[in-house]
Amino acid sequence: MRIELINTGSELLLGKVLNTHQTYIGQTLTDAGYTLAHQQTVPDTAVAIQAAIAPAIARSPLVLVTGGLGPTSDDLTRQRIAELLNLPLEEHPPTRDRITAWFKKINRPMPETVLVQAQVPAGAIVLTNHHGTAPGLALPTGQGWLILLPGPPRELRPMFADAVMPFLAEKLAPETPRAIRTLKTLGIGESSVEEKLAAPLAKLTAAGLELGFCARVGEVDLRLVSPGYETMLDDAEAIIRDIIGEFIYGRDDDTLEAIILRELTARFQTLAIAESCTGGIISHRFTNVPGASAVFLAGHCTYANTAKQATLGVTSETLAEHGAVSEPTARQMAEGARTIHNADYALATTGIAGPGGGTEEKPVGTVFMALATNDGTEIVKRLNRFDRETFKQVTAQQTMDLLRRKLTI
Ligand code: ATP
Ligand code: MG
Repeated sequence: MRIELINTGSELLLGKVLNTHQTYIGQTLTDAGYTLAHQQTVPDTAVAIQAAIAPAIARSPLVLVTGGLGPTSDDLTRQRIAELLNLPLEEHPPTRDRITAWFKKINRPMPETVLVQAQVPAGAIVLTNHHGTAPGLALPTGQGWLILLPGPPRELRPMFADAVMPFLAEKLAPETPRAIRTLKTLGIGESSVEEKLAAPLAKLTAAGLELGFCARVGEVDLRLVSPGYETMLDDAEAIIRDIIGEFIYGRDDDTLEAIILRELTARFQTLAIAESCTGGIISHRFTNVPGASAVFLAGHCTYANTAKQATLGVTSETLAEHGAVSEPTARQMAEGARTIHNADYALATTGIAGPGGGTEEKPVGTVFMALATNDGTEIVKRLNRFDRETFKQVTAQQTMDLLRRKLTI
């Protein structure tokens, strides 16, 4: 089945807002066995929106449109589409009631204009918006369905997952069901993964297994697609784990922080962090996970030498003799954080992010990462030659992986 996506929003074309709906919708559809055939972004003008939708509904049984359902004057989608489909707009009383109740709940006066959102084309299936006022709409086009979705990501995503996907399963099931699994690897290069796996997986690939690689910042996703059977994915995963198991940290939506916190929670163990060059990213990532407080005791961002000394107990001798970016400093940072907070584990980072700085002995990208435990401290030195932002992300990921390996291998 051919599926098209039309994203409306001049801000997307102006480069002010990243089109995350495209990746979210593309990925969600792919995971469910559908394929997005075409995507376009159009400005918020009536002419542009109509011009995009008319041919799309003529050639595709499913057309998704995002944005422009709100009450503001640039939100013309609903009216233009009703005109295009020759459907009169009618008030949808449950939506009107929901919008009125919404404003009561948030205790704000309701501008009359928001009630245009309760005007829906006759015959529309209304998709309730549990996170905002504008409902989504599924409209029969004669050839299939046109589905209109609200622009704000926190409204669109739950509506897409909870209302659109079940709607599609009922009305437009995918022709070829597929099973998909992503294995997330860290510390091994894309071509090396491919080379190691090609021969052992040859039998399964001949039977229809597809293997895809997606290199991301500091890591590689391995996508396994099977023509319908989960068992084929299980077989493939077992073979892959035999060969590169230690590099696989999770599946699908797993994150390093969630995995580490799960392991530590189960063991009633705790964690402290001392960051220099990663600037707090590691602490930020751990505290993004609900329930982190059972494990995460403290995160220090000690950037200056004086802060490393005052907060973590790094000695002036160490700093004078070896410098802030050195194995002894990384060690004292991790051990200091672990001792001060009486934690089971502590992670530390210190490095030269660049672009300036660096010496022949310690070029830009040099970084020391430490993991302090009750039976000693492990230190890894790396050369992460990237732009500043990537350097921070990659270093955070590698540092967290020290603990993941300790806990799971
Ligand atoms: P509202 O009621 O807020 O006006 P709407 O359904 O009319 O919602 P828009 O006005 O198009 O939607 O967009 C609302 C918000 O969602 C804006 O902040 C916009 O930047 C964001 N947004 C819209 N489309 C996208 C997209 N494709 N990717 C990411 N963000 C988007
Ligand atoms: Mg709007």
